[in-house]
Amino acid sequence: MGFQITGMALKNLLSRPATKLYPVEPQVYTTQTRGHVDNNMDACILCSICVRKCPATALAVDKEARTWTINPFSCVQCMACVRACPRDSLSMLPEYTAVAQSMSTRTLVKPEDEDE
Ligand code: SF4
Ligand code: SF4
Repeated sequence: MGFQITGMALKNLLSRPATKLYPVEPQVYTTQTRGHVDNNMDACILCSICVRKCPATALAVDKEARTWTINPFSCVQCMACVRACPRDSLSMLPEYTAVAQSMSTRTLVKPEDEDE
């Protein structure tokens, strides 16, 4: 038994740490990582389908102000909005939401069309 414990201790002493020295050692994301939702506002038509599909009420659209807003602290990365978007303007990017000192929303503005 004592021999086993000594062996385990030696193995742990000589092996690489199981944890990363984050953020010095950057995280490597897999292609399946669900980090955060992004919106290509050039393609978005502000139809609000994503708002209605979101189970976490994390999204809001203001047609008059031409804005799309996400509350990243409410989002549960389910991708329901990404799948429902008729314009494929939403995507799930692998990077996790940046750390913040206070809970805030992220608002994107749709640029005015040149022919409007
Ligand atoms: S469903 Fe797509 S096109 Fe419609 S408001 Fe949401 S992001 Fe924009
Ligand atoms: S990923 Fe899910 S929870 Fe997050 S905004 Fe889209 S529908 Fe809502």
